[in-house]
Amino acid sequence: LAAYDVDKIRQDFPVLDQQVRGKPLVYLDNAATSQKPKQVIDSIVNYYENDNANIHRGVHTLSERATLSYENARKTVQQFLNAASEKEIVFTRGATEAINLVANGLAETIKQGDEILITAMEHHSNIVPWQMLCKKTGASLKVAPINEHGELMLEEFEALISNKTKFAAISHMSNALGTINPIKQLIDQLHQHDVPVLVDGAQAIPHISVDVQALDCEFYVFSGHKLYAPTGIGALYGKMEQLEQMAPYQGGGDMISVVTFDKTVYNKVPYKFEAGTPNIAGTIGLGAAIDYVNSIGVDEIAAHENALLNYAVVQAKRIDKLRVIGTAKEKGAIMSFVLDGIHPHDIGTMMDHQGIAVRAGHHCAMPVMDFFGVPATARASFAMYNTHQEVDALMAGIENLIEMFG
Ligand code: PMP
Repeated sequence: LAAYDVDKIRQDFPVLDQQVRGKPLVYLDNAATSQKPKQVIDSIVNYYENDNANIHRGVHTLSERATLSYENARKTVQQFLNAASEKEIVFTRGATEAINLVANGLAETIKQGDEILITAMEHHSNIVPWQMLCKKTGASLKVAPINEHGELMLEEFEALISNKTKFAAISHMSNALGTINPIKQLIDQLHQHDVPVLVDGAQAIPHISVDVQALDCEFYVFSGHKLYAPTGIGALYGKMEQLEQMAPYQGGGDMISVVTFDKTVYNKVPYKFEAGTPNIAGTIGLGAAIDYVNSIGVDEIAAHENALLNYAVVQAKRIDKLRVIGTAKEKGAIMSFVLDGIHPHDIGTMMDHQGIAVRAGHHCAMPVMDFFGVPATARASFAMYNTHQEVDALMAGIENLIEMFG
C-alpha cells in the first residue's frame, strides 16, 4: 500500500497554492466547505465545454451524454454509500434541502401528539425543518441532551423513545463539536420501537466510510461541498419503501409521468423528488469528487486527519488560555475552542491576518453554544490536504494573538 502522500494531494488543489495577507494560506475551515481538486474542476469544465444539454427528455447526442453522466454520478453515490439500488439516491441542493424534503414528505403521516426525536448537538438544518413539521402537524419535538464533553447522553436518549416517537433525526458527526455519535446503536434502539431514522451525514461523509445497508437507517443525507465537490449539490439516500410512500417535495417537470388539469401521476422514485432541471454540472462534479476520494481511501484520509487532530489537541494543552469545546472520546477532525478574554470573532479576524482560515461563530448550532455558555467558538477543521506544519502555524497564530491581546 502506498504511503499517504499529502504533498502530492496538495498539488491537486490549486486554491491552496496562494498567499493570504502575505502569508501562505492555511485553510482550516473545511467543516464549512472543503476545497476542490482539479479533477473535480476539470469534470465541470469538460461537461460545459463538450456535453452541456438538458437531461432525460432529449434524444440528441449531447442530451444522451449529459443524461448518462448524471445517472453515472447517481451510481457512484450509490456505491459510495453502499445503497441497495441507485434508485434510492435522490439528488438535492445539499443536506439542508434533503432534510426539508423528508420533513415535508412526512407531513401527511405525522399527527397531533406524535413526537419527533433529535439531539442537542444538531445543526440548525436538522432542527428547524422538524420544528416546522411539528408546527404544521401538532407533533412535538423531543431533544436528547448532551454531557459536558459534548457526547450524547445515551440513557436519556433511550428514555425519550416511546410509542409516541414517530421519527428521529440525528447527526452522524457534529459540526460544532466534532462528536461522532454511536449511530448504529442509536438506530437499533429506535428500530426496536419501529421508529424510522434520518441520519445527518453532512460532517461525517468526508471522514467516515458509510454503509447505509449496514446502518439500516431509513434516510441518510449529505452535501457535496464538504466532500470536495461543488456547492449546490448533495444527496438523500432513502430506503425504497420509504421513498415510495412519501409525498413529493416540489412539483414541476421531470417529477411527473402524466399531467392533466384534473390530476397528475407522479414519476417513479427517485425522479418523483427531482422536480425541474437539476444541477447537472454539480452532480457530475460530485461523482468526480467521490472518485477522487476513493482513489485515496476514506479510511486513509480519516487516519491522516485524526493524526492532525490529536497533534492539535496535544499542542493546545500547552496554551493555558485555550479551552477546547467538545472533548468527546469519539471525535472527528474538528477542534472548536475559545480563548480566555478574546472574543471568537476577534480570533477569526486576527488569524486571517496571519493567513489562517478558521471559522468563528455559532456554527449554526446556537443550542450547543448555549449549553457550553459561550456566545461562539473558533473552529479549526481538518481535511485530507492539511499538514502538521499547518497545525504548527495554527498554534503559533494563537500564541501571537494571546500575546497581542496581552
Ligand atoms: N448538518 C451539519 C452537521 C452540517 O455541518 C451542515 C453544514 N454546516 C449541514 C447540516 C447543512 O449543510 P448544507 O448547508 O450544505 O445544506
